[in-house]
Amino acid sequence: VEIVNEIGRFPTRNHKRGVFDKVTAVGSTRIRDEFRVAKNSCFNCKIQCKLVTISKKHHSIGEGPEYETVVSLGSGCLNDDLDTLIYANHLCNDLGLDTISCGSSIGFAMECHEHGLIKEDVNWSDADKIVQLVKDIAYRRGLGDLLAEGVMRAAEKIGGGADKFAMHVKGQEISGQDGRAHRSGGLTHATSVRGADHLRGLSVIDEIGYPEIGLRRYGEDKLPAALNRHSEEFKGQMVYDVEYFLSVVDSLILCKYGTMYPLCYYFPDIPDILYSLTGVDLFNDEDNLRRIGKKICLLRRAFNQREGKSRKDDTLPDRFLHEPEEEGPAKGQVVNLDVMLDDYYQLWGFDKDGLILPETLDEFGLEDVKKELYK
Ligand code: SF4
Repeated sequence: VEIVNEIGRFPTRNHKRGVFDKVTAVGSTRIRDEFRVAKNSCFNCKIQCKLVTISKKHHSIGEGPEYETVVSLGSGCLNDDLDTLIYANHLCNDLGLDTISCGSSIGFAMECHEHGLIKEDVNWSDADKIVQLVKDIAYRRGLGDLLAEGVMRAAEKIGGGADKFAMHVKGQEISGQDGRAHRSGGLTHATSVRGADHLRGLSVIDEIGYPEIGLRRYGEDKLPAALNRHSEEFKGQMVYDVEYFLSVVDSLILCKYGTMYPLCYYFPDIPDILYSLTGVDLFNDEDNLRRIGKKICLLRRAFNQREGKSRKDDTLPDRFLHEPEEEGPAKGQVVNLDVMLDDYYQLWGFDKDGLILPETLDEFGLEDVKKELYK
């Protein structure tokens, strides 16, 4: 939380800003020292990333918050009441709500209210209102019923320019990154097949900076451009690489902690692990694993292509493209998405409109998919 705020990429006030002046109030140090009572984990994991926390004010115990929730139910709503943020997180867990979509929908409602598009009082920083809306979204009551539709559909129903405040890609609310302060993050959000998503292609080499790993993966001639989080240069390549690596990671049910944060394991490490576990020769071949990863990504993309998705859908909200960041280290920055999209499409073998070329499908043995897309 604190580090990301330092680089001006801590989404605040419904993604309008990248710096939260109350960051210490919701930061990781406070969560650890004042609210964490235990750690939990998946089977046998020594990292134990899952926090068990207590909200004394609301008499609640449960898991969280993770970084994303501190953004969506915290800085995104200008909420610095950490105890209530934690309670709202527990509620989301118990009620089966995704904290990113839920919190983002509440931040959207706050900005709509500020501009007179929602009459009901939904004011910035109102922690009790956040709790009420989490419950109302879950039980589809009042304004909660509208917000339960997500920001894209809610904005369509509200009208009057509410779409300007609906921070989504392909209908999915945006996670806790901002392409203005972290260009490859913007390209990831725009191209992710299921909508704004930080888990399918987020490059962290240029985020908080891993210069040695950047050098090892991309060579001296690509630095410092690859490490410059405010430059579009070379970000198409970085997102492309991470995307097909993470498709292998997801298929193997490996954790993102160690493959994404921090960058401990990469393609050269996977054959050793996989071959020792399975004895399958095909898995002892890094090139083959890379090919499998790319094929998975192409299949996902092909699904969207069949459903009519193309370059027009690989985009970002206007806020990221045309509203310069107002303060912090990314002040004055906007995302020049087209440059990155062109590079990314070329690497994948798509045409200018983002459609997979027939020869790309042939190259990966996806003739059946080609028949369906090009009948
Ligand atoms: S999510 Fe990953 S880091 Fe966290 S406990 Fe599970 S395996 Fe460990």
